[in-house]
Order: sequence, then structure tokens, then C-alpha cells
Amino acid sequence: MTAGTRVPRRLPKRSLVALGILVAVAIPFLTPSSYIHNVLILTFLLGILGSGWNVMSGFTGYVSLGHSVFIGIGAYTAGILAGQWGVSPFVVAPLGGVAAALLALLLGWATRRTRGVAFVIVSYAMLELLGLIVRNWSSLTGGSQGLLMPLPDWDVRFHNWPFYYALLALLLLSVAMTAAIRRSKLGLGLVAIRDDEDKAAGIGVVTPVYKSLAFMASAVLVGVAGAVYGYYVSFLTVSTMFDIVLSMQVVLAVLLGGRATVWGPVLGAFIVVPLAEVTNTSIGGVDAGAFRLIMFGGLLLLVTLALPRGIIPSVSRLLEQRRRGETSSLTGARLVETTLPVAPVSERVAVGSTEMLRVEDVAVQFGGVKALDGASLVVPAGSITALIGPNGSGKTTLFNVIDGTYSPVRGDVVLAGKSLAKLDRTGRAFAGIGRTYQLPRLFDSLTVLENVAAVNSSFKLRRLVHSAVSGAEAARATELLEFVGLGEYVQAHATDLSYGQRKLVELAQMLMLDPAVILLDEPAAGINPTLLRRLAALIESLNATGRTFVIVEHDMHFVLSLADQATVLAHGKVIASGEPAAVSTDPAVLEAYLGDDFVLEPTTIGTGS
Ligand code: ADP
Ligand code: MG
Repeated sequence: MTAGTRVPRRLPKRSLVALGILVAVAIPFLTPSSYIHNVLILTFLLGILGSGWNVMSGFTGYVSLGHSVFIGIGAYTAGILAGQWGVSPFVVAPLGGVAAALLALLLGWATRRTRGVAFVIVSYAMLELLGLIVRNWSSLTGGSQGLLMPLPDWDVRFHNWPFYYALLALLLLSVAMTAAIRRSKLGLGLVAIRDDEDKAAGIGVVTPVYKSLAFMASAVLVGVAGAVYGYYVSFLTVSTMFDIVLSMQVVLAVLLGGRATVWGPVLGAFIVVPLAEVTNTSIGGVDAGAFRLIMFGGLLLLVTLALPRGIIPSVSRLLEQRRRGETSSLTGARLVETTLPVAPVSERVAVGSTEMLRVEDVAVQFGGVKALDGASLVVPAGSITALIGPNGSGKTTLFNVIDGTYSPVRGDVVLAGKSLAKLDRTGRAFAGIGRTYQLPRLFDSLTVLENVAAVNSSFKLRRLVHSAVSGAEAARATELLEFVGLGEYVQAHATDLSYGQRKLVELAQMLMLDPAVILLDEPAAGINPTLLRRLAALIESLNATGRTFVIVEHDMHFVLSLADQATVLAHGKVIASGEPAAVSTDPAVLEAYLGDDFVLEPTTIGTGS
């Protein structure tokens, strides 16, 4: 992949876009056919709607089946205000966008705890509900009589051109917005949310803010376009403006063109609208509706089966494969010794005999299961605490309570003297709690570098418009990846990694957060002996810089040789706590967990279990 092969590939794309824009601008002059103008106007509208849908559903992963609600709200807002104020709908079209953005914000707030299928249903219900309100509020909206827009006030020589160019401009603006979001910190956070929203929250992505911004961005230009479109059709009715068919077509268009790409929605619109027009004119009669339904349903099925990623991603993958040849080989991790790239913990927390983390009498219940039943834990600053116990004893649940994933029915978590009770997951990440998962959770759409660079250790709104990965962040992330021995994998995709490598990337990710307390959930499980020794060395060197660890692990030789103290859980209760040597010979611990024949050999890290 040299610069020489790259440059010629970029040029055609740019010139293609420029040529496309030129043709689109010239068409009204080239052909007087109002049929063609009309088809293009509808194509632009679907392209704008698709770009908006793409930001919410393609990037963020919240699939909307009612996106045309934003067209309806934009059109009716402009229609009503234009009528009342006696101005051109073009003048009030931006207010249609504002109304749509506010509605999107409301949708985001109402669904802040809704995910997956439930969100799909809510988005559809929103379309129906708004349609119902508009239909019944007849004093304002004309109800089922419809709402007449003012007539165009320009010279007839200009035909439909103002609509055409307004929608073309909005389409280009939508594409530019999509491209900007994709390149930004906001876009990186949105993809992280789509891949794993809880994990994203845990690495400092303030998910409510990201989602609200994305939802508003996905609606605002659609609202403006709705106002223009309403003016174009000149007569607003609920069924044409809050159109469920359009809401379906947009899904088809974006999936066809390529979800989460910049041009996919536009390409999709240019396929779907002409196709719909051709079938409209060629298939007439009473069955036309049914035919179209079958055709679009069939097409959707075909796309999902044959081109699950859409046209643009499939083509670009093909091109990339051809460019790279068949040389994509990722070998095992090469362990490069690097110096510790982590600065000592900041002054805010003094290292020594002071207490860093305290868990007080925590209880968590799942139905009839008491996962934690009054568990307590005190972790001194700068120490390594082993948290051990049989499967199902509540170790992971305790981590989930500490990092704010679960709120306990009673008890408290205190970090450096301050209760964390009021902080959510992201707040706790910012406060200094970092954790890894028993099964590593990476963002699979992102590269290894992006996975690490997606971490934020604080929140600043204006940083969201910055580029996704800044030079400094890339340098830092690379350093940390080299530190865990994965320097060669910086540009690899997360999905290309082995299980053990994923665990190490998650460790680097967590170090990017620069937490004061590091919670490791079974870090040694599934890691080969060489990596295990390296992991032990990593933990020791990080600990030497003052970082506090709590490590859940079944490999006793590994964890007890590192630990300053050990706490044993069984059935959600602490059954022993103290020095590793004392705990490992405690009769209650032998009985509940280790077994009578257990002998601790602290010198042989990485050979146990
Ligand atoms: P450990 O990590 O020590 O193996 P866990 O903390 O994962 O144990 O689980 C403790 C108990 O709580 C187990 O009985 C487990 O089945 C139950 N549990 C944990 N998480 C959930 C959950 N989200 N829903 C229902 N039960 C759960
Ligand atoms: Mg567990």
C-alpha cells in the first residue's frame, strides 16, 4: 500500500463527485421535462432523508422506522407559519428544521433507556402518533381537509427550479454533514455506541450527549427538506407528509447503498426512486400498490441476503482486496520490550497506606438470586488486591457495582473518600475507575488504534467536532499498544485479533483512560504462558507507578504471587480476607473454593490452572 497506488484511486472519486454535481446543476437547463425534474426532486428528498436516517440508524445503530415524521413536522411547521405570517414557506423552512430537531431531541429523551427492537417500535409509533395529532388538531393543521400552502410567487419561466435547487443544496449539505460527522470525535463515539453502548459509557463516551446530537443532526435537514417538499406539492395531508412507505423506502435505500457510509444513502436514493417511478408508470390498476409492496419487500430481502453490507462497502472492500493482493497475514504477537509509557498516578491521590477504594455492605439481587449479600472490601492505595472465589460467587457483579453498571439495593462504593453513588458509569470512568471484562469487549467496527483512541478521560463539548483521532491521541494509543506488545496491530481490525490479543487491547484501552483504580476481570484466562508472564510484568510495572489493582482470577499462582491482599467471595459474601498466604491456607477457603490439596507456589507465574 504505497502512496503511488493511493493517489490515482482518490482522484476519480473526487472528479466523479464534481461531475455528478455539475450534471445535477445543469439538468434543468438541459431538459425541460418536468417528469424528470419531479423524479430528481423525489430522489433528492429520499437522499436527504436517507442521510439523516444514516446518522441515527447507520452510525448510532438506533434503527428508525418512522423517519418521515421529520418530513411531516418540517412541512406542517412551515405550512402553518407561512400561512399565519403571510411569508414564503422558503423563509420559514429553517424553522421546520428546528421543529424536527426538537422532536428528535424529544424522541431521544423518551427512548433514553430503550434499545434494539423496542426503539424501532417507538420510532414507528412516533410517526403514527404525530400523524394522529396533526389529523385531529384541525383548527391548526386543517385536519383531514389538508393544508394548502401559498402558491409559488416566482415567474413561471423558472418552473420548479427553486424546489429543485433548494433540495439539491440540502442534499449536498446532508452529505457534507455526514462526512464531517464520520471524521469527527462525535462520529467515532457514535460507532462505539452502535457496537457496544455500555462499554462506550465505561470508557468516557457521554452517551446521552452523543445520542442527542446525532438524533438532532439526523432530523434537522430532513425537517428543512420537508418544508421545501411540502411547498412543492403545495397541499399537505397526513398520509403524504407522514408517509410510512417513505419511511420504509429510506431503509431500503440506505441498506442498498451502504449503511454508515457517506454516499450510500445518495446512491440508494438514485436506485430506489427511479425504480419506484418506473413501476408506478408501467404497472397501473388496482393491484399497483400490492405489486410495489412485493417488489420492495423482495428487493429488501435480496439486499439483506446478497449484499448485507450494501453496494459501497462491498465495492470498496473488493477494491481494497485487489489492491492489497492476498497478503493480509497477521501473525502472533511479537513481544517487544518497551519502557513503561505510563506516568505515575497524579497528585490527586497519594500513594501509601491510605484507602483508595471501599465497598461497603453491598447487596445485589437478581430475582431470587442474591448475587451479592452484604459484601465489603477495602483496597489501600497502590495495592494489588486479589478477588477470588468459585464461579457464580459474585465477583463480576461486584465489579459491576463498583463501575456503576448495577446499582445495589443497599451499600455504597467510595473512591478516595468520596461516595460514587450519584455517578453513572461515565462519571465513574472520569473519577478514576477503569475495568476490563471477563470476555473482552472491543468495538468491532473500529481498528485497534481507534478502539484505544476512542477513550475519553474527560468531557468537553467542543472536542466532539475535532477529528476522530488527534495526532497526540494516536501517538499515545500507539505507545500503549506497543506497551502491551501489540504495536504491529495498530491498523488491524478488532475482529482480526485472537482472544488473548483482544484482552491486551482492552488493557491498553483502559490505560488510555488513565484510571486510579484498575479492575481486571479474569485477565489471565485464555492467555498463553508467554503472554501471561508479560501480563504479570505489566501489572507489576503499573503498580510500581502507583496504580491500584483489584484482580479477579482463577489462576491462583498468577494472582496470589502478585497480590498484597486477597478477598474471597462465596455466595455473595466475603468468607475470608487478608494476606495471600494466610487466605490460601484458611480452612473455609479450602473448603469453599481451593480444595484440600491446594498448595501455593508463588514463584511460578503462568504455569497454574
Ligand atoms: P462470578 O463472576 O463470581 O463468577 P457473577 O458475579 O457473574 O459471578 O454472578 C453471581 C451470581 O449472579 C450468579 O448466580 C449469576 O448467575 C447471577 N447473575 C449475575 N449477573 C446476572 C444478571 N445480569 N442477571 C441474572 N443473574 C445474574
Ligand atoms: Mg465473573
